[in-house]
Amino acid sequence: MSRTIVVTSGKGGVGKTTSTANLGMALARLGRKVVLVDADFGLRNLDLLLGLENRVVYTALEVIARECKLDQALVKDKRQPNLSLLAAPQTRNKTAITAAHMKALVEVLSRHFDYVLVDCPAGIETGFQNAIAGAKEAIIVTTPEISAVRDADRVIGLLEANRIKDIKLILNRLRPAMVKNNDMMSVEDVLEILSVKLIGVIPEDEQVIVSTNKGEPLVLAEKLSLAGEAYDNTAKRLDGIEVEFMDFTAANNSIFARFGRWLRGNP
Ligand code: ADP
Ligand code: MG
Repeated sequence: MSRTIVVTSGKGGVGKTTSTANLGMALARLGRKVVLVDADFGLRNLDLLLGLENRVVYTALEVIARECKLDQALVKDKRQPNLSLLAAPQTRNKTAITAAHMKALVEVLSRHFDYVLVDCPAGIETGFQNAIAGAKEAIIVTTPEISAVRDADRVIGLLEANRIKDIKLILNRLRPAMVKNNDMMSVEDVLEILSVKLIGVIPEDEQVIVSTNKGEPLVLAEKLSLAGEAYDNTAKRLDGIEVEFMDFTAANNSIFARFGRWLRGNP
Protein backbone atom coordinates (compact mmCIF):
# COMPACT_ATOMS: atom_id res chain seq x y z
CA MET A 1 0.00 0.00 0.00
CA SER A 2 1.37 3.34 -1.06
CA ARG A 3 1.07 6.37 1.20
CA THR A 4 0.55 9.86 -0.17
CA ILE A 5 1.42 12.50 2.38
CA VAL A 6 1.40 16.29 2.06
CA VAL A 7 3.89 18.18 4.21
CA THR A 8 2.27 21.47 5.07
CA SER A 9 2.04 24.29 7.61
CA GLY A 10 0.11 27.44 8.24
CA LYS A 11 2.96 29.89 8.50
CA GLY A 12 5.74 29.92 5.90
CA GLY A 13 9.40 29.27 6.65
CA VAL A 14 8.80 26.80 9.48
CA GLY A 15 10.67 23.88 7.92
CA LYS A 16 8.39 22.09 5.46
CA THR A 17 11.04 21.68 2.79
CA THR A 18 13.72 20.72 5.31
CA SER A 19 11.34 18.12 6.75
CA THR A 20 10.32 16.75 3.35
CA ALA A 21 13.94 16.31 2.25
CA ASN A 22 15.05 14.63 5.46
CA LEU A 23 12.04 12.38 5.92
CA GLY A 24 12.26 11.34 2.28
CA MET A 25 15.93 10.48 2.50
CA ALA A 26 15.50 8.68 5.83
CA LEU A 27 12.58 6.60 4.54
CA ALA A 28 14.57 5.71 1.43
CA ARG A 29 17.41 4.55 3.66
CA LEU A 30 14.92 2.33 5.47
CA GLY A 31 14.38 0.60 2.15
CA ARG A 32 11.19 2.34 1.09
CA LYS A 33 10.73 3.61 -2.45
CA VAL A 34 10.12 7.31 -2.06
CA VAL A 35 9.26 10.13 -4.42
CA LEU A 36 9.33 13.74 -3.29
CA VAL A 37 7.09 16.14 -5.18
CA ASP A 38 7.92 19.83 -4.97
CA ALA A 39 4.55 21.58 -5.14
CA ASP A 40 6.02 24.97 -4.31
CA PHE A 41 5.72 26.13 -7.91
CA GLY A 42 7.74 29.21 -8.70
CA LEU A 43 9.85 28.99 -5.55
CA ARG A 44 11.28 25.54 -5.90
CA ASN A 45 14.03 24.68 -3.47
CA LEU A 46 13.56 21.04 -2.57
CA ASP A 47 16.02 20.22 -5.37
CA LEU A 48 18.59 22.52 -3.75
CA LEU A 49 18.22 20.97 -0.30
CA LEU A 50 18.75 17.57 -1.88
CA GLY A 51 21.69 18.77 -3.98
CA LEU A 52 19.89 17.67 -7.13
CA GLU A 53 19.35 21.07 -8.76
CA ASN A 54 21.83 20.47 -11.58
CA ARG A 55 20.09 17.30 -12.62
CA VAL A 56 16.61 18.73 -13.04
CA VAL A 57 15.65 18.83 -16.72
CA TYR A 58 11.88 18.50 -16.68
CA THR A 59 9.44 19.40 -13.93
CA ALA A 60 5.89 18.59 -12.93
CA LEU A 61 4.71 21.24 -15.38
CA GLU A 62 6.10 19.42 -18.44
CA VAL A 63 4.67 16.14 -17.19
CA ILE A 64 1.21 17.68 -16.80
CA ALA A 65 1.48 19.41 -20.19
CA ARG A 66 2.52 16.04 -21.64
CA GLU A 67 5.75 17.49 -22.95
CA CYS A 68 7.72 14.67 -21.39
CA LYS A 69 7.12 11.32 -19.79
CA LEU A 70 6.89 11.05 -16.02
CA ASP A 71 10.01 8.88 -16.05
CA GLN A 72 12.03 11.59 -17.75
CA ALA A 73 11.09 14.13 -15.11
CA LEU A 74 11.97 11.98 -12.11
CA VAL A 75 15.48 12.65 -10.82
CA LYS A 76 16.89 9.63 -9.09
CA ASP A 77 19.25 10.34 -6.20
CA LYS A 78 22.68 8.84 -6.88
CA ARG A 79 23.49 8.51 -3.18
CA GLN A 80 20.23 6.72 -2.46
CA PRO A 81 18.53 5.10 -5.47
CA ASN A 82 15.30 4.54 -3.52
CA LEU A 83 14.76 8.30 -3.57
CA SER A 84 13.39 10.25 -6.53
CA LEU A 85 12.43 13.87 -6.95
CA LEU A 86 9.82 15.52 -9.14
CA ALA A 87 10.88 19.16 -9.22
CA ALA A 88 8.64 22.20 -9.40
CA PRO A 89 8.72 24.58 -12.34
CA GLN A 90 10.61 27.77 -11.63
CA THR A 91 7.98 29.97 -13.18
CA ARG A 92 4.58 30.12 -11.66
CA ASN A 93 1.74 30.06 -14.09
CA LYS A 94 -1.08 29.82 -11.66
CA THR A 95 -3.70 28.73 -14.14
CA ALA A 96 -1.54 26.09 -15.79
CA ILE A 97 -1.82 23.50 -13.04
CA THR A 98 -5.07 22.52 -11.36
CA ALA A 99 -5.92 20.37 -8.38
CA ALA A 100 -7.21 17.73 -10.78
CA HIS A 101 -3.80 17.61 -12.51
CA MET A 102 -2.02 17.20 -9.20
CA LYS A 103 -4.42 14.53 -8.05
CA ALA A 104 -3.86 12.53 -11.22
CA LEU A 105 -0.10 12.96 -10.96
CA VAL A 106 0.06 11.77 -7.35
CA GLU A 107 -2.22 8.88 -8.25
CA VAL A 108 0.17 7.68 -10.93
CA LEU A 109 3.20 8.13 -8.67
CA SER A 110 1.53 6.14 -5.90
CA ARG A 111 1.47 3.11 -8.18
CA HIS A 112 5.25 3.12 -8.35
CA PHE A 113 6.36 4.29 -4.91
CA ASP A 114 5.75 3.32 -1.28
CA TYR A 115 5.72 6.96 -0.24
CA VAL A 116 4.73 10.06 -2.18
CA LEU A 117 5.67 13.12 -0.09
CA VAL A 118 4.38 16.44 -1.37
CA ASP A 119 6.18 19.60 -0.24
CA CYS A 120 3.54 22.30 0.07
CA PRO A 121 3.94 26.02 -0.67
CA ALA A 122 3.14 28.63 1.99
CA GLY A 123 -0.35 30.01 2.29
CA ILE A 124 -3.75 28.44 1.85
CA GLU A 125 -4.57 29.48 -1.69
CA THR A 126 -4.34 27.75 -5.08
CA GLY A 127 -0.91 26.27 -4.39
CA PHE A 128 -2.11 24.73 -1.14
CA GLN A 129 -5.26 23.33 -2.74
CA ASN A 130 -3.15 21.78 -5.51
CA ALA A 131 -0.62 20.32 -3.10
CA ILE A 132 -3.21 18.60 -0.94
CA ALA A 133 -5.30 17.36 -3.87
CA GLY A 134 -3.84 13.88 -4.11
CA ALA A 135 -2.86 13.34 -0.48
CA LYS A 136 -4.53 10.95 1.93
CA GLU A 137 -2.42 11.98 4.93
CA ALA A 138 -0.79 15.17 6.12
CA ILE A 139 2.18 16.17 8.20
CA ILE A 140 1.84 19.61 9.73
CA VAL A 141 5.08 21.39 10.54
CA THR A 142 5.10 24.17 13.10
CA THR A 143 7.57 26.01 15.23
CA PRO A 144 6.77 26.63 18.90
CA GLU A 145 5.60 30.18 18.28
CA ILE A 146 2.07 31.21 18.94
CA SER A 147 1.56 32.69 15.45
CA ALA A 148 2.78 29.51 13.75
CA VAL A 149 0.73 27.28 16.04
CA ARG A 150 -2.40 29.32 15.47
CA ASP A 151 -1.93 29.11 11.69
CA ALA A 152 -1.27 25.37 11.98
CA ASP A 153 -4.57 25.02 13.78
CA ARG A 154 -6.40 26.73 10.93
CA VAL A 155 -4.73 24.48 8.39
CA ILE A 156 -5.70 21.38 10.36
CA GLY A 157 -9.31 22.54 10.02
CA LEU A 158 -8.86 23.07 6.29
CA LEU A 159 -7.31 19.63 5.85
CA GLU A 160 -10.18 18.00 7.70
CA ALA A 161 -12.66 19.91 5.56
CA ASN A 162 -10.83 18.42 2.58
CA ARG A 163 -11.26 14.90 3.92
CA ILE A 164 -7.66 14.52 5.10
CA LYS A 165 -8.15 13.15 8.59
CA ASP A 166 -4.82 11.42 9.19
CA ILE A 167 -2.78 14.39 10.36
CA LYS A 168 0.53 14.19 12.20
CA LEU A 169 2.63 16.93 13.73
CA ILE A 170 6.31 17.85 13.53
CA LEU A 171 7.40 20.46 16.03
CA ASN A 172 10.49 22.12 14.57
CA ARG A 173 13.16 24.49 15.90
CA LEU A 174 12.58 23.69 19.55
CA ARG A 175 15.06 25.40 21.86
CA PRO A 176 15.10 23.46 25.12
CA ALA A 177 16.94 26.15 27.06
CA MET A 178 14.29 28.69 26.15
CA VAL A 179 11.52 26.27 27.05
CA LYS A 180 13.16 25.71 30.39
CA ASN A 181 13.15 29.45 31.06
CA ASN A 182 9.52 29.69 30.03
CA ASP A 183 10.51 31.78 27.04
CA MET A 184 9.25 29.28 24.50
CA MET A 185 6.21 27.04 24.23
CA SER A 186 6.95 23.47 25.24
CA VAL A 187 5.92 20.35 23.34
CA GLU A 188 3.03 19.94 25.79
CA ASP A 189 1.92 23.56 25.31
CA VAL A 190 1.73 23.03 21.55
CA LEU A 191 -0.06 19.70 21.85
CA GLU A 192 -2.64 21.29 24.09
CA ILE A 193 -3.63 23.61 21.25
CA LEU A 194 -3.21 21.21 18.33
CA SER A 195 -4.91 17.92 19.01
CA VAL A 196 -3.05 15.87 16.43
CA LYS A 197 -0.60 13.07 16.86
CA LEU A 198 2.99 14.15 17.48
CA ILE A 199 5.39 12.33 15.19
CA GLY A 200 8.58 14.35 15.62
CA VAL A 201 10.32 17.04 17.63
CA ILE A 202 13.27 18.65 15.85
CA PRO A 203 15.59 20.94 17.80
CA GLU A 204 16.98 24.21 16.53
CA ASP A 205 20.29 23.13 15.04
CA GLU A 206 22.81 25.10 12.99
CA GLN A 207 23.63 21.90 11.12
CA VAL A 208 20.35 22.44 9.26
CA ILE A 209 21.93 25.46 7.58
CA VAL A 210 25.17 23.61 6.85
CA SER A 211 23.22 20.75 5.32
CA THR A 212 21.11 23.10 3.19
CA ASN A 213 24.20 24.80 1.85
CA LYS A 214 25.85 21.47 1.05
CA GLY A 215 22.75 20.02 -0.57
CA GLU A 216 23.08 17.03 1.72
CA PRO A 217 20.17 16.08 3.98
CA LEU A 218 21.08 15.82 7.67
CA VAL A 219 20.17 12.15 7.81
CA LEU A 220 23.04 11.34 5.42
CA ALA A 221 25.75 12.55 7.79
CA GLU A 222 28.10 9.89 9.07
CA LYS A 223 27.68 11.19 12.59
CA LEU A 224 24.15 12.40 12.98
CA SER A 225 23.53 15.87 14.39
CA LEU A 226 20.73 16.25 16.94
CA ALA A 227 18.33 17.42 14.25
CA GLY A 228 19.51 14.63 11.96
CA GLU A 229 18.83 12.02 14.60
CA ALA A 230 15.46 13.58 15.34
CA TYR A 231 14.50 13.40 11.65
CA ASP A 232 15.71 9.83 11.42
CA ASN A 233 13.52 8.93 14.40
CA THR A 234 10.57 10.78 12.90
CA ALA A 235 10.86 8.84 9.65
CA LYS A 236 10.92 5.58 11.59
CA ARG A 237 7.77 6.54 13.49
CA LEU A 238 6.09 7.48 10.23
CA ASP A 239 6.97 4.03 8.96
CA GLY A 240 5.40 2.40 12.00
CA ILE A 241 8.50 1.75 14.07
CA GLU A 242 8.23 2.70 17.73
CA VAL A 243 11.02 5.09 18.71
CA GLU A 244 11.27 6.97 21.97
CA PHE A 245 11.33 10.74 21.78
CA MET A 246 14.75 12.25 22.43
CA ASP A 247 15.36 14.26 25.55
CA PHE A 248 16.62 17.63 24.43
CA THR A 249 16.70 19.30 27.81
CA ALA A 250 19.68 21.57 27.77
CA ALA A 251 21.44 19.78 30.61
CA ASN A 252 21.27 16.53 28.74
CA ASN A 253 22.97 17.81 25.67
CA SER A 254 25.51 20.14 27.16
CA ILE A 255 29.06 19.18 26.50
CA PHE A 256 29.40 18.14 30.13
CA ALA A 257 26.43 15.86 30.08
CA ARG A 258 27.66 14.27 26.87
CA PHE A 259 31.08 13.80 28.42
CA GLY A 260 29.44 12.25 31.46
CA ARG A 261 27.50 9.81 29.33
CA TRP A 262 30.66 8.95 27.44
CA LEU A 263 32.47 8.25 30.71
CA ARG A 264 29.66 5.92 31.64
CA GLY A 265 30.07 4.22 28.25
CA ASN A 266 26.75 5.51 27.08
CA PRO A 267 27.36 8.25 24.49
P1 ADP B 1 9.53 26.11 4.58
O1 ADP B 1 9.69 25.08 3.52
O2 ADP B 1 8.44 25.81 5.54
O3 ADP B 1 9.43 27.49 4.01
P2 ADP B 1 12.34 25.64 5.13
O4 ADP B 1 12.47 24.18 5.29
O5 ADP B 1 12.74 26.22 3.81
O6 ADP B 1 10.85 26.10 5.48
O7 ADP B 1 13.13 26.34 6.32
C1 ADP B 1 13.12 27.74 6.49
C2 ADP B 1 14.44 28.20 7.09
O8 ADP B 1 14.55 27.74 8.42
C3 ADP B 1 15.64 27.69 6.35
O9 ADP B 1 16.60 28.71 6.27
C4 ADP B 1 16.15 26.55 7.22
O10 ADP B 1 17.52 26.37 7.11
C5 ADP B 1 15.76 27.01 8.60
N1 ADP B 1 15.49 25.88 9.51
C6 ADP B 1 14.50 24.96 9.39
N2 ADP B 1 14.53 24.07 10.40
C7 ADP B 1 15.56 24.42 11.20
C8 ADP B 1 16.13 23.89 12.44
N3 ADP B 1 15.62 22.81 13.02
N4 ADP B 1 17.22 24.52 12.96
C9 ADP B 1 17.73 25.61 12.36
N5 ADP B 1 17.26 26.15 11.21
C10 ADP B 1 16.18 25.58 10.64
MG1 MG C 1 9.48 25.30 1.41
